[in-house]
Amino acid sequence: MPDEKLAEGDAAGVEGVPTATVVVKPGRARPFFGRHPWVLDSAVLSVDGSPADGDVVDLVTHDRNFIARGLWNSSSRLRVRLYAFDAATRLDAGLWRKRIESAVALRRSLGLDDREGAARIVNSEGDDLSGLIVDRYGDYLAVQVTALAMAGRLDTICDSLESTLRPRGILLRGAERGLSKLEGLHLADRLVRGTAPSGPVFVREHGLRFGVDLTEGQKTGYYLDQRENRQAAARHARGRRVLDMFCYSGGFAVACAVSGGARSVLAVDSSAKAAALAKANAELNGAAAVSVETADAFEKLDALAAAGERFDMVVLDPPKFARSRASLDDALRAYHRINRVAVGLLEPGGILVTCSCSGSVSRDDFLEMLSGVAQRSGRPIQLLEIRGAAPDHPVSASCLEGEYLKCVIARVA
Ligand code: SAH
Repeated sequence: MPDEKLAEGDAAGVEGVPTATVVVKPGRARPFFGRHPWVLDSAVLSVDGSPADGDVVDLVTHDRNFIARGLWNSSSRLRVRLYAFDAATRLDAGLWRKRIESAVALRRSLGLDDREGAARIVNSEGDDLSGLIVDRYGDYLAVQVTALAMAGRLDTICDSLESTLRPRGILLRGAERGLSKLEGLHLADRLVRGTAPSGPVFVREHGLRFGVDLTEGQKTGYYLDQRENRQAAARHARGRRVLDMFCYSGGFAVACAVSGGARSVLAVDSSAKAAALAKANAELNGAAAVSVETADAFEKLDALAAAGERFDMVVLDPPKFARSRASLDDALRAYHRINRVAVGLLEPGGILVTCSCSGSVSRDDFLEMLSGVAQRSGRPIQLLEIRGAAPDHPVSASCLEGEYLKCVIARVA
């Protein structure tokens, strides 16, 4: 492979070959035999050798039996990320290329290779590439790196992305602030390959068109994980007056109005930038039934209730309320509060589309919260669909922490 480059982390040794051995504490090896890719500092007994951050290391039991091979990061609580579970596999450019090709093949088989469409191409652990997220918006790729070791291999990764997908440009989007701090990673947003789009990139989603701001937008520019849920919601929207709360660029609002035939849609977001994107996307799709407001959701929900407003469908897609297990109770209270007000706004027989993207709130926690809302409001809630993220966001069965999105579609009596 002529374009293969040495990854920074491998510069000292043979590429992809371990420079040190990490010994797991007795009784702590089981998850790694089960292919769980995260080795926490608390599971490490000792280290033979002195690996540099990003170096390849072998993980062994306390009696020195090989378990897995991964990449070292001394500044993260997630001390080793594992990428191979056999001693024959080198963590070299060839492996990253193979993993990226396999990820691209999956999206192709899902029918998500429309050049004018958008899809998540690499979903971190779900594609055996812990710490790497790649989204494709038409001809452009947005790369998000959440692991130091992946940052050191960015060149190799971009080579593979260029040769498999031939994008016009690859943009690096900074990881979420909290995560960067956890990994000791400080990456600025920048263009890494090719050219940057001169304005929004327009992508197709189920026959609708959305402008995506790749350089300034939230996440990598758009919420791809909700693609199928927007269509699922739209299937319930015919003739209804819809409230789309936390609308961002108007995905649910436009889908309900245009694909679903809603009578009217009020879309609300606290960010003026998001509201402007939603307005532009509504116009782009000729969705005259959509009106957009900039307002805080908690205040707006209360104001609508106080004014005696009623809707036939309410969509709630708030940002992550729980950053960790520690804030779980606060998060569940916040979910309860907005869902309770939303239920109060619904006409009898109305549809509630309620989402949570907090990984630390389990599906059961979320459903229990809804049961609490039914109890406190005295309004029976019938669960019609319990959904997750779109299939281009695969979750590894060995790392269920990758499952975060819940989208419940329910009928409220
Ligand atoms: N439903 C959207 C994604 C929503 S993301 C889609 O399908 O694309 C969550 C949105 O909530 C963000 O746009 C963020 O700006 C907005 N938000 C965060 N806090 C808010 C608040 N207190 N009130 C209203 N909107 C809020």
